[in-house]
Amino acid sequence: MDAAHPAPGAQAPEAAPTCFRHPDRESYVRCTRCDRNACPDCRREAAVGYQCVECVKSGHQGTRQARTAFGGRITARPYATVALIALNVAAYLVELVRPETLDRFGVLGSGVLAPPADYDPATYVPHLSGIAHGEWERLLTGAFLHLGPTTWPMGILHIVFNMYWLWNLGRVVEDRLGVLRFLALYLLSALGSSAMIYWLAPHSLAVGASGAVFGLAGGYWVLSRRQGYDPLGGNQMMITLVLWMVLSAGFASWQGHLGGLLTGLAAGAALGYAPRQQRGLVQAINLTAVLALVAVVAVIATDQLTPIS
Ligand SMILES: [Zn+2]
Ligand SMILES: [Zn+2]
Repeated sequence: MDAAHPAPGAQAPEAAPTCFRHPDRESYVRCTRCDRNACPDCRREAAVGYQCVECVKSGHQGTRQARTAFGGRITARPYATVALIALNVAAYLVELVRPETLDRFGVLGSGVLAPPADYDPATYVPHLSGIAHGEWERLLTGAFLHLGPTTWPMGILHIVFNMYWLWNLGRVVEDRLGVLRFLALYLLSALGSSAMIYWLAPHSLAVGASGAVFGLAGGYWVLSRRQGYDPLGGNQMMITLVLWMVLSAGFASWQGHLGGLLTGLAAGAALGYAPRQQRGLVQAINLTAVLALVAVVAVIATDQLTPIS
């Protein structure tokens, strides 16, 4: 059969209706005001049926802001996801010009770095660097750096894979959380990932957004369970990521992947399971508790590295 010439009388199947904000999602529920189809992320329960987020927004003009599924402010585009990708790419460009950025800002508990390119062997004294020696910024900066283009075996794929996942997951999670809550989930996951590396592999230098991306996946999984709506296939994604964590353990930081995933699950629960009353306040308290847990891990790691004298 030649697909380009359907048999006479054959009819193209009616395309399934899709969400007006997400053309890739099937949706049969219509907004009672504008009659457009809207997926569960883009509609809110109304007195009668459902309204889409845009009609909710215009209906509440001046009185109350329309909110995302978990309480954030609705934006037209995934601004935070785009900003995070731009930051990662900008940092990569800096690395290409100054490769020593990796050593200085990667996640490293404690270690002796290679001397700078222009060092004087007569006067250079090797010394210990790392988080345990006061360079706390590494817990965050390491998540925005990636392996150089010639590094075996990932090379340029390191940043390409991470940004691909960040783009695909970030848009959906930001849509549910809004900018602030989304950034909190992402940055907490980055910190949780770094803290786990600091604790379990303090003498290795690690970089990459994958810990934070694993956190986004964990957050997505929890929020999808809570919402009863899972357009990206969360279970499948979890299996894929855990498999990757195990298979890549020889050359990537499984500690960082695990730390990011666990933090993302916790932060997702902190945001998703806050009660409707005082939701913003409870979410902030919950997230602070997750941050405190991450800090405890970092303190334990520091204790391990600092000999008692
Ligand atoms: Zn509408
Ligand atoms: Zn939608």
